[in-house]
Amino acid sequence: MGNVYDAILLGAKRVGHGLGYVKHPYLMEVLKKKNIAIEVNPVSNKMLGYVADQRHHPAITYLRYGIPIVLGSDDPATFGYDEFTVDWYEAFMSWGLNLADLRHLAFNSLRYSSLSSSEKNVAYNKWTLSYDNFILNTKTVACKQIFQNTSPQIFRIFPQEGDLKGGTKIQVFGRNFHVAICKKIVCNFGDIKTIGTFVYSHRITCNSPDLSHSMTIIRAFSHGVYRDTGDPLYLRFLVNIFSYLIHGTIGQFGYTNRRRRKRSKEQHYATQHYATHASDHTPNEQIVYSYLEFLKWEEFNRTRDDFPPARPIKLHIADIKQSKIYKLLKRFPKGGNMHLHHNHVVSKLKMLDLIFASPLYDNLYVKTGPPKQWNMDFFLNPPAGWAKVKENSTYTKDILVQHSTFLGIIDDKAINDPTDSGLRWKEIGPLFSVIGSHIINNANFTKLYMDAVLQAAIDENVQYLEAKSSAYNKLYVLDRDTKYASKNGKHFIDNDYGELELKMVEEVIKKFKGSHPNFIGYKRIVNSYRGGKINYVGQDVQKALRLYEKYPNLVSGFDLVSEEDRGYSLLFFLEDFSKITVQNLTLPYFFHDGETNWPDDLMTSLHDDDPVPTMDNLYDAILLGAKRVGHGIGYVKHPYLMEVLKKNKIAVEVNPISNKMLGYVADQRHHPAITYLRYGIPVILGSDDPGTFGYDEFTVDWYEAFMSWGLTLADLRHLALNSLQYSSLSSSEKIAAIQKWNKLYNDFIINTKGSACSESFQNTVPQVFRIFPQEGHVTGGTNIQVFGRNFQVAICQKIICRFGNIITKGRYVYNNRIVCKSPNQPQTTNGVTTNHVPFSVSLDGGHTFLSKTFTFSYLQRPRVSITDHGIGK
Ligand SMILES: [Zn+2]
Repeated sequence: MGNVYDAILLGAKRVGHGLGYVKHPYLMEVLKKKNIAIEVNPVSNKMLGYVADQRHHPAITYLRYGIPIVLGSDDPATFGYDEFTVDWYEAFMSWGLNLADLRHLAFNSLRYSSLSSSEKNVAYNKWTLSYDNFILNTKTVACKQIFQNTSPQIFRIFPQEGDLKGGTKIQVFGRNFHVAICKKIVCNFGDIKTIGTFVYSHRITCNSPDLSHSMTIIRAFSHGVYRDTGDPLYLRFLVNIFSYLIHGTIGQFGYTNRRRRKRSKEQHYATQHYATHASDHTPNEQIVYSYLEFLKWEEFNRTRDDFPPARPIKLHIADIKQSKIYKLLKRFPKGGNMHLHHNHVVSKLKMLDLIFASPLYDNLYVKTGPPKQWNMDFFLNPPAGWAKVKENSTYTKDILVQHSTFLGIIDDKAINDPTDSGLRWKEIGPLFSVIGSHIINNANFTKLYMDAVLQAAIDENVQYLEAKSSAYNKLYVLDRDTKYASKNGKHFIDNDYGELELKMVEEVIKKFKGSHPNFIGYKRIVNSYRGGKINYVGQDVQKALRLYEKYPNLVSGFDLVSEEDRGYSLLFFLEDFSKITVQNLTLPYFFHDGETNWPDDLMTSLHDDDPVPTMDNLYDAILLGAKRVGHGIGYVKHPYLMEVLKKNKIAVEVNPISNKMLGYVADQRHHPAITYLRYGIPVILGSDDPGTFGYDEFTVDWYEAFMSWGLTLADLRHLALNSLQYSSLSSSEKIAAIQKWNKLYNDFIINTKGSACSESFQNTVPQVFRIFPQEGHVTGGTNIQVFGRNFQVAICQKIICRFGNIITKGRYVYNNRIVCKSPNQPQTTNGVTTNHVPFSVSLDGGHTFLSKTFTFSYLQRPRVSITDHGIGK
């Protein structure tokens, strides 16, 4: 990664590939300002293993950020794909490119070429001519196209209301609108017509006319959705219901305008900011940091040809947990686990242990065949097709765990198609109910489970949790009264709002905090399901609001869960959210948002009445005032929205392992979280469903992030602090929480420093291979990089650099690098000034010096060719 700096410092006109720049927003800014183009080679990158899935190519981030992009094909003949158009096909299909983008890419290729200015002018003219021809020819083809068996339909319009003065842009959602590509679209508002705009085959927009001078207020029209007038030039249709508002409201109409402004701002977006958090280390932290980096390096050396963060989790999970760096990270005080689904936190083995050890074991049953095979539940009298687990040798804990976890059932498909997220969801979907709410809602198990949730946090050195759970946690007990026989003995005892469950949870937290003074707390986010219809979600929003008001210390807000690509969009539920705004009430939102691989322009939704790309949720979560967003994978493709997240301090809940297991990140080294972190967006970590995924331990997320994102100790510290800073704790709770965390962190630093300084580093002989630069100005102050190996022996030692007979203090950077600063004194030997002195290094405070000696030269005037380019930390 050092090259990303050096190419710029060496004044490169263009850089090839440039995949690493996305991890350095500051350097992206430099590329943009200096007009340094990136040569992007989509197919080569995929074939050589730098981009697993074209939808994740950083080129789209560069393009939207304003960095000049040009396309290339690298070695098409040797790769064997031969045609450059393959690169264009993949880019066009997966990056969300429009025609203007294609035109821009083609034009850029000439603009950032090595042609002289006069040659460029000739080239532009030639290209413009071909482009114009292409447009004319393609237009002809498009307009001749016969769309057979295609009848356009309208399903929904949004908004359904607008100002009397007109000018409201109405989205008309439907299908088969492509028949209108070459036609004029007319929108009828009563008897008044306006011209519509084709957006997509699922969407048209109509501008409402000005009715302020008219006496008629149009309320409703016929429901006739589409009417073919027989006129080949006009496609006419009736908008089904459109109301004019006499008074402005803060409902949908105002919202659409805000939405439009957000979009148009994006087009004028020019970024000025990048930033990072504090990166300083105290002397003790410096030792711990050096030690962590050393362990990271050891782990990297051990695994570099089969690097766990780049591989499916199943292959390495056991191995990861045994590593030295993992064991150390497990002890790191992590603050909060900020994205969790309550019913899927505790390891399945632990849950079975608890059940097997309690009287509940007598009532545990498992479904023996499909559908819902392996589902477990408690009954007095089981329904047909369920077998008693107790004393049944078929159903051992191991077998049950295997069939209740994602790791247990995942097969080679996940290895071969690591980004097939749709398939991953189909596989994991049924597992959510195997050992799920049926088990946890048994009132005799609810508290045991809750206690295990908190204990699992302590085991990972996590002090705080925010977990999502449905609004339907109705508890039951098994009751022998005959009136419950028809429900297999289940006697539901909780009210519709699940308040008994909340009370039990509160009780367990209180008790747990008493016995674990370092534990900070737990909060609940009420969730509904994206697949739900409007009424269903609307009710849940109201439920969440009521619980939020009644249990302010426990319930912190609302979320929508399940597969985002298949569910309804946030826009679809707007009415439910605007009801709350209109009543002047508040309900904090923590939406799952941007958990998608797809580009902006592909309609992922399967719902006729909601043909909206998943990526639209990125805007809506922000506009609805979300406090945090879950996953947020898609934001990296929208630098402008990244800027908004940063400015509005909207935290992104990042779930590294979940993202990999569900196919949103094929390789942890490409996780967009590092871009967010370096850009200054608040990032917090979560583990989503560790129990049901089967990896159980949150430290696995920290391990992969630490190993593959280039994180320092200051970054780890920042992530932990962020988790509390961006939590739902009140300001006074936050102060107390951060105090608790600080104490744990300081303990961690002292203890780890102890381990680092007592490390024996056996069979380790430090060696120096090269110093750079080998010369510096007589006034001193040149940073000399000393490259070698096994410098880790100096982590807790004083490093001395000797220039002739003058010594300076060296700085440990890495186990293969030390930095020495040249002294500012002229060197004299026998009274004669010399320009060349021997240079050596001591790693034990000057007692012994490493055997290899170099010559360092003093220059009377600085040379231009060698600069201290500031690599290292
Ligand atoms: Zn989630």
